[in-house]
Amino acid sequence: MKAIIIGAGMGGMSAAIALRQIGIETAVYERVTENKPVGAAISVWSNGVKCLNYLGLEEQTAKLGGIVETMSYLDAHTGDTMCRFSMQPLIDEVGQRPYPIARAELQMMLMEAYGLDEIHFGHRMVSVADGPDAATATFADGTTATADFIIGADGAGSLTREYVLGAPVTRRYAGYVNFNGLVETDDTIGPATEWTTYVGDGKRVSVMPVAGGRFYFFFDVVEEEGLPYEKGSAREVLRTHFAGWAPGVQALIDRLDPMSTNRVEILDLDPFYTWVKGRVAVLGDAAHNTTPDIGQGGCSAMEDAVALQWAFKDRPGDAHAALTTYQQARAERAADLVLRARKRCDVTHAKDPEKTEEWYDELRNEDGTNIIRGIVGNIMGGPVTPVS
Ligand SMILES: Cc1cc2nc3c(=O)[nH]c(=O)nc-3n(C[C@H](O)[C@H](O)[C@H](O)COP(=O)(O)OP(=O)(O)OC[C@H]3O[C@@H](n4cnc5c(N)ncnc54)[C@H](O)[C@@H]3O)c2cc1C
Repeated sequence: MKAIIIGAGMGGMSAAIALRQIGIETAVYERVTENKPVGAAISVWSNGVKCLNYLGLEEQTAKLGGIVETMSYLDAHTGDTMCRFSMQPLIDEVGQRPYPIARAELQMMLMEAYGLDEIHFGHRMVSVADGPDAATATFADGTTATADFIIGADGAGSLTREYVLGAPVTRRYAGYVNFNGLVETDDTIGPATEWTTYVGDGKRVSVMPVAGGRFYFFFDVVEEEGLPYEKGSAREVLRTHFAGWAPGVQALIDRLDPMSTNRVEILDLDPFYTWVKGRVAVLGDAAHNTTPDIGQGGCSAMEDAVALQWAFKDRPGDAHAALTTYQQARAERAADLVLRARKRCDVTHAKDPEKTEEWYDELRNEDGTNIIRGIVGNIMGGPVTPVS
């Protein structure tokens, strides 16, 4: 069996490693000419970490991961603690510590595990086609590649998805912009082993540790889509949006590097359940594009990779049957995560301000039980975290 994987993001690389683990020949094609991930870091929740462990990356993942001992919510303006609690009950319940990891490092870990030199960089797929005996990808330079099946891990703007669904789809603006980056840990912003989140006015500011004494930070700002933004102006923009917020937030704005701070408009996609057309299938953001509000987009891509491997283990030598099995294993679960994230997004960003005020009140009375229950609900339900 031979597989072509389009896209060398975390979904494509995880899939390539997973398929190779069971003896399927793989070829990965990536449009960019070098590894330059957009975004600073992601939280790899326990389900994602378990997938990486399954792919043989337990030690490397643990080395890159930040240690989050506690989680807290602070009042935006006063900086007073609304709640603070240990992550240990979550780790005990799901059997794995989550790890926030710098994006570039996660990406490099996956690429090196697969073999950096083996990835075909600079290959932009311009069309994909299914045939009776094989599937074929055509690249911008006119070359083609053929295999028993093609996995389109080509991200949120996926061309493969357009082929599988027979039409382009329109993504939905989720109503907010996310500024993110990395800074050195600093007690004036938050404790070095805590995931600290300041909330108020339908906005949020968060820091969590990644390896190397750094915080991954992000700011969520509700604003309309498509506003102009000048690279390097993050400090001025954030000072305006967060005027009057607590000293920890001001310290973060002072410390961040405006040039390397990313600004991302957040979009998602209504769930869809057809992921396969003949010998061609979608995986990762190409199949389920979510807002980052529960930190599950990348984790879900890793779950896809494990489920894809299991489908080919169950149906060896039969690409059609295996891809159908893969779709059945994944589509509902991934859709559930997209919809959960959407719900959280609306509460966090004050779509209905009354509900958001209720949430702030809940946070002031929270001992961690409800929040951990919610996170465990997201983590459980994938291939390596079955619900018993
Ligand atoms: C602000 C933000 C925060 C997030 N935080 C988290 C988090 O905390 N936890 C989490 O789990 N997830 C998080 N996510 C989601 C996560 O980043 C994505 O789900 C994940 O990157 C998806 O991986 P992927 O491989 O499917 O797609 P991508 O990472 O987008 O990779 C797709 C790859 O395909 C390539 N490609 C595209 N088209 C072609 C083509 N035609 N030919 C060849 N190559 C092509 C692209 O260049 C790219 O390298 C966050 C997302 C955002 C925006």
